[in-house]
Amino acid sequence: MKTIIPAVQDAHTARRNGMRPEPRKRPRVVIVGAGFGGLAAARELAHADVDVLVINRTNYHGFWPLLYQVATAGLEPESIAYPARAILRRYRNADFLLAEVGGVDFERRAVLTDVGEVTYDYLVLAAGSTTNFFGNAHVEAHTLGMKDLDEAQRLRNHILACFEHAAAEPDPARRAAMLTFVVVGGGPTGVELAGAFSELIRHVMRKDYPMLDVNQAHVMLVEATDRILATFPESLQHAALQRLERMGVDVRRNVPVADARPGALLFKDGTELAAETVVWAAGVRAAPLAEALGVALGRGARIKIEPTLTLPGRPDVFVIGDMAYLEGYRPGVAYPMVAPVAIQMGEQAARNILARTRRNPLKPFRYFDKGQMATIGRSAAVLDAFGVQMTGWPAWVGWLFVHLMELVGFRNRVLVLLNWAYSYFTYDRGVRLIFGVGAEPVKQRLVTVR
Ligand SMILES: Cc1cc2nc3c(=O)[nH]c(=O)nc-3n(C[C@H](O)[C@H](O)[C@H](O)COP(=O)(O)OP(=O)(O)OC[C@H]3O[C@@H](n4cnc5c(N)ncnc54)[C@H](O)[C@@H]3O)c2cc1C
Repeated sequence: MKTIIPAVQDAHTARRNGMRPEPRKRPRVVIVGAGFGGLAAARELAHADVDVLVINRTNYHGFWPLLYQVATAGLEPESIAYPARAILRRYRNADFLLAEVGGVDFERRAVLTDVGEVTYDYLVLAAGSTTNFFGNAHVEAHTLGMKDLDEAQRLRNHILACFEHAAAEPDPARRAAMLTFVVVGGGPTGVELAGAFSELIRHVMRKDYPMLDVNQAHVMLVEATDRILATFPESLQHAALQRLERMGVDVRRNVPVADARPGALLFKDGTELAAETVVWAAGVRAAPLAEALGVALGRGARIKIEPTLTLPGRPDVFVIGDMAYLEGYRPGVAYPMVAPVAIQMGEQAARNILARTRRNPLKPFRYFDKGQMATIGRSAAVLDAFGVQMTGWPAWVGWLFVHLMELVGFRNRVLVLLNWAYSYFTYDRGVRLIFGVGAEPVKQRLVTVR
């Protein structure tokens, strides 16, 4: 396998001096993943006496908390993504490599990528997570995920196409299936998506498709347990449930899904629902890279790590964010798969790497919990932070503010703010275009229907 590290590790220094890159003597920190955790680690290491190389399969950082707005035609995909190089070029010691990581040779301290091997002195694994279909191949094949920009764009194309198909469909039963939108999973992502579906239909599709009775459109949120937003206090769960129901979302609790087939969802109680759109938001598990490493895994195929964030027996390898399984959030409970955990782990891993280079002891991970929030729709959200619980408009404004501030890049903030203001005042969604990822099958099917 080709070794590519000399070409990339010193690119910055060499470019600055107008020279060809040459190997360097400083410790090399390789970070796999340009997500919340990986970039936090790179930021913490900026200007330290190490060389940093971030490897990612895409050339951008994705802001996943706003992904559901891409899927429901509220935001352009570009407004929630930011080029990784544009972030990293601020740090003089950092560089970027666009590559898919397939494994790690821990003995030789080499990251195995599809463009060659990259050697490291310290490694930070931050490859995030993927949708958990709990081993059900039918569910995986016949439901839609929402984990990255491609999937969100595919979902948007699919929803818009369902309305186009329904407008041309004479059979009422088939039309009803085309206008049935099911979200499986009552966590924050499921709640946000179900609320956004409802608003898209009530505010926008109603006007776009006057020939369709949009009262026929059915948005359903399906949850296997007896509660939605299970990690929130009960009063906020109740507020969210009431709000969703007022918005016309059919919330079904205690309804575990058994299976799926094309155009239908099957429940454990033996009933079946005809639906062209089923979004699977019922769980996440560590990115497939975790399983490829041959290390001990915990729940959700996440990698078991030490409190110092290192891999057991590998003090030079750190695992952070969604990929990492570390108990301590509550007794016997692992830290949740959320952005603040990934960011704080990234920072702590970086500090521990620097401690090791200085031969200082490593510190265990301590989480500062800033609380949690979820938006349900226009002027409606729930917020639980620092002992304060909020619902309605104040929580919604808090949600908007936090997400706008956390978004990377000034241009993205402006784009998102303009889109939000436009939607708020006009009740419209600007991005109702069927194009790009997943658009071709949709167009072909449209031809068949007609
Ligand atoms: C739809 C959705 C909504 C969410 N909403 C919220 C929210 O409101 N609040 C919140 O706190 N959290 C939210 N989360 C969770 C949050 O996004 C994650 O906890 C966080 O992104 C984890 O950070 P990470 O660095 O571990 O992984 P990520 O941020 O996912 O980054 C992982 C990176 O690794 C790259 N990668 C993966 N595999 C490979 C490979 N083999 N080779 C190369 N590169 C690879 C990916 O392309 C990605 O860039 C949401 C997640 C989703 C999907």
